[in-house]
Amino acid sequence: MTFDLITIPCRTDNYAFLLHADGKTALIDAPEAGPIISTLADRGWGLDEIWITHHHDDHIDGVDTLRRKFGATVRGAKIDAHRLPELDHAHVDGDSFDFADFAVTVMDVSGHTLGHVAFYVAQANAVFTADSLMALGCGRLFEGTPDTMWNSLSRLANLPPETTVCSGHEYTEANGRFAITIEPENPDLVQRISDIKVARSAGQPTVPSTLKLELQTNPFLRAGLQSLKDTLNMSGATDAEVFAEIRRRKDSF
Ligand code: ZN
Ligand code: FE
Repeated sequence: MTFDLITIPCRTDNYAFLLHADGKTALIDAPEAGPIISTLADRGWGLDEIWITHHHDDHIDGVDTLRRKFGATVRGAKIDAHRLPELDHAHVDGDSFDFADFAVTVMDVSGHTLGHVAFYVAQANAVFTADSLMALGCGRLFEGTPDTMWNSLSRLANLPPETTVCSGHEYTEANGRFAITIEPENPDLVQRISDIKVARSAGQPTVPSTLKLELQTNPFLRAGLQSLKDTLNMSGATDAEVFAEIRRRKDSF
């Protein structure tokens, strides 16, 4: 199955994504309309669907403009319908819908907000995670508890390692400065930080990444590893307790 997956920088450090297959185009998050409209025009594509991950302004500000201009169908979490732009399809965890030749699964990945969803497209090997699992990080816990976010991240961690992780912000370089304080001896992390530096000095995005790389380097996904627990002097703690400690440290970093 051939498809295009396009990353669009928006606002200061946001990313939106276009998934295009079989003549159809879906947009994942709409931080602002302008860059999305020009990308669609460059490619000669219309816009059939908009999939919203969560209610924050920097993920939804462009939705109404784009819906009006293209007549796009809008999908988002049912639990958040009261604080999202009007939804044509309101989804719950585990819902599946068809887009082009793909079956798309909606996953509740609450933690950053309650009602944050991810869209998993198995046949495209891609998951759209926005501010849940991020490149070398995870979203701040504005609404959920550490347990909620750990549960969400654990479900994402169980997707196939070759999955492309399309997250919502270019925070990777700063995330790396924190991650190395948690696992200073992790060679994959040291390598990734150097790769990030090269990419950023060339003006390249570090998003999307792969789940395999996140599993090797992202401290928030690695909270269950005994080696990491030992490093933090938390040898007997539960995975969720270790995750909570890492998140607490990041908040005050
Ligand atoms: Zn957010
Ligand atoms: Fe955001």
